[in-house]
Order: sequence, then structure tokens, then C-alpha cells
Amino acid sequence: MMTETDQSQNLLQTARNQFNNAADFLGLEPGLRKVMLTCKRELTVNFPVQMDNGSVEVYTGYRFQHNVARGPAKGGIRYHAQLTPEDLRALAMLMTWKCAVADIPYGGAKGGVVVDPKKLSQRELENLTRRYATEISLLIGPDTDIPAPDINTDAQTMAWIMDTYSMQKGYSVTAVVTGKPINIGGAEGRSEATARGVQYVIREACREKDINLEGARIAVQGFGNVGATIARLLMGDGARVVAISNTNGGIYNPEGLDLKNVTIYNQEHHTLAGFPNADKITNQELLGLDCDILIPAAYENQLTGANAAQVKARIIAEAANGPTNTEADRIFQDKGIFVLPDILANAGGVTVSYFEWVQDLQSFFWNEAETNRRLNTVMSKAFSEVHNIAQERKVDMRTAAYILAVGRVAEASLTRGIYP
Ligand code: NAD
Repeated sequence: MMTETDQSQNLLQTARNQFNNAADFLGLEPGLRKVMLTCKRELTVNFPVQMDNGSVEVYTGYRFQHNVARGPAKGGIRYHAQLTPEDLRALAMLMTWKCAVADIPYGGAKGGVVVDPKKLSQRELENLTRRYATEISLLIGPDTDIPAPDINTDAQTMAWIMDTYSMQKGYSVTAVVTGKPINIGGAEGRSEATARGVQYVIREACREKDINLEGARIAVQGFGNVGATIARLLMGDGARVVAISNTNGGIYNPEGLDLKNVTIYNQEHHTLAGFPNADKITNQELLGLDCDILIPAAYENQLTGANAAQVKARIIAEAANGPTNTEADRIFQDKGIFVLPDILANAGGVTVSYFEWVQDLQSFFWNEAETNRRLNTVMSKAFSEVHNIAQERKVDMRTAAYILAVGRVAEASLTRGIYP
């Protein structure tokens, strides 16, 4: 059985393999490769939190910045009991490439705390977040490093970080985080942005592959913020969501699921199991279903050499970060499956985060229609740039996305030169 440490190393190894593959295409010098493979800054903090029963616990948190050649660092904050530095190195690196693919002026970062937030009260969670924010305020700031929500953190977490940072400065600094509540400088449309970005690139991919999205069969792994939203948005395009799953497994109906009732059922029962008019399936079964588009929207390392051969979808849209390992990728290429890689497919979230930061800095806010219009422009441009490279160089979409991203970061690094 694969341990958590193996999985983290796999994620980092996969990220490094993908970088090296692009670096080979670009003929990058060994010195530049070394710089681009390494996190620029890695901050580890151990800090006390007073619990509701009066006891004191010490938690470990991190903030890692991968590369800031193209602008301030940007990336989410994750609360997870199995969080490791290796995970964060890989995820921070993915953020650098994602910002470069979308051509937004940021570098990559990631952070988090080793904690199972479900075991904490709301007050303990607020205390932990405020102390963690204070500890990492050595690095974060509107000009330096701008966190956002990730797994198990949300708009409220960002509000606490923004308030803590502002209290230390003595004035309100809304642009220090993105993904905030709208009443304190959040952007209209941010909560749906990642899923909307996935929707926009799926539309482009369907056009390219001659697949009619209307009636297309969709399977979504993960029914969280991104998974549930993308399922709803694609239904709006006329697609049939035939399967969805969460940690406890999933449900399948080849005629299409009644998503409204699934959502209500999931909220009431905290599980999908037992939902009427659908077959119970495992997560592994979901990945191998007969469908047109498979959307991994849960966690890393879900598609591996062990299950990739069973995948029947024509398109895989990686809403999750790092869901496919190198072996699975090779199998998908052999099978001719069109993979929309994470650094392209889920770039909508960071793009609208960028829009939020721009609006905060200008204190001038747009409506949701404006946000979605601009998001569509960014995603469509990124898709066509990646697709052009894929065709010109005769490579898969992931390699093409990495060639675009790594090329942009390499150019910025070479233009700036090495200090001193
Ligand atoms: P979330 O915590 O809201 O949802 C995750 C979902 O996955 C939950 O429904 C959970 O039950 C389910 N899940 C966990 N393990 C599973 C498994 N083995 N099989 C099936 N389902 C499983 O998180 P989210 O914000 O929706 O993020 C999902 C993914 O998208 C993550 O990889 C995240 O890094 C990535 N992502 C999110 C954003 C964003 O804006 N939220 C942006 C870019 C990328």
C-alpha cells in the first residue's frame, strides 16, 4: 500500500519530471534548471494555540515560495493532517507554472498547517489561523506573497488572515489575500471561478475534438467546491452528469443524475451513499466509467499506472492539482485521450484571484459579468496558445503547457539576471 510520504514524493517527482521534460524541449541550461527546480524560500513555523479546554497545543505551519521571477508569490493555504513539505514544494511549483500559462504576473507559492480542522472548534480554528498568519507575516503582503483558500480553508479563513495582517499594520490591507468575502474586498465570481475556468477550456476542447457538449456524458471525482460547481455549470451547457463521488465513494446513473436533489441529499446526509435512482460505485469504478469527459476534482495522484488503462473518457479535464502521475500520463497519450492539464484547466481560480487583487489595489470593483468575460478571454487565450504549441511541436497538451510556462519563467529569469 502507498503511504502518505510515498504519495508526497510522487507528487514532487511528477512535478519535477514534467518540468524536466519541458526543459529538454526548451534546451535550458543546467544552472537555470537548478534555480527553477528549487523553492526560493521555505518558512517553517511552530506555534502554540490555546484550546477551548485551556490546554496548549503546538502546530506546525509552512509558507513556501517557489519562484518570483514574474511577480509576487501567489498560492493557497491548505489545512491537512498529512500535509508535508514535499507536497508544498510540488504545489508551489505548480502555481508558478499555472500563473505563467495564464500569463498573469505572479510567481508560485503554497502554504498550510498540519492539522485536521474538523477536530477544532470555530474559536480554536480562528486562534490557529490568526497565529499562523502572524508567523508567516514575515513573508506575506500585497506586494510580496498573496495567499488564497485551498483544501479545508475558505473565505472566512482569508478574512481572519486579512484582519490579522491589517491589525499589525494599523490600517486595512485588503490585497494581502484573495478569495475573501465580498463585503471586505472579495471579487464577484471568485467562488465559482475555478470551475468556470474548467468549463471554458472544456468548451474549447470539445470544439477541437468535435464533441457535442450538449448530451456529453460527464463523470466528476470529488463533490466539493470545484467538483459540485463544475457539474452544475456543465449541466447548464446541456451535458449529462452521469457520475459523481466524494471520499466515501460515488453514485452513477447513465441517464444523468438529478444534481439539485443530489446536492440536497449530500447536505442532509453528509454522504452520497443511498441516493435513490442511482447505482453505488467506488471511486475506482468512477474513473473507469464509459463517459465522454472525466473530471478529477478531488486530490492528487488519483490516476496512476494502476488504473489509467481502464479510463474510457475522450477528454480528461484536471480540475484538481496533480491528479495524474507520469505513468498514467504515458498511458493516456498511447490511448489518444485528450488531457487538459491542471496548470491550464484549473487556472481560472488564480486568474480571478488576480482580478480580485487588482480591484483591491485600485479600490474599484467590477460586476460578475465583467469578471466572467475577462476570465473567458484569459482561459481561451491560454488554451489556444497551449494547443498551438502542442500542434507545432507534436506533443501532448501537458508538455505544451509546460513548454509555454517554463519558457515564460525562464525568459523572465534570464532578462533579470542573477543578483548581485
Ligand atoms: P474541497 O475540499 O471543497 O473538495 C474536495 C472533494 O473531494 C470533497 O468532496 C471530498 O469528499 C472529495 N474527495 C476527497 N478524496 C476523494 C477521493 N479519493 N475520491 C473522490 N472524492 C474525494 O476542495 P476544492 O476546493 O473543491 O478542491 C478540489 C481540487 O481542486 C484540489 O485538488 C484543489 O487543489 C484543486 N483546486 C481548487 C481550486 C479552488 O479554487 N478551490 C483552484 C485550483 C485547484
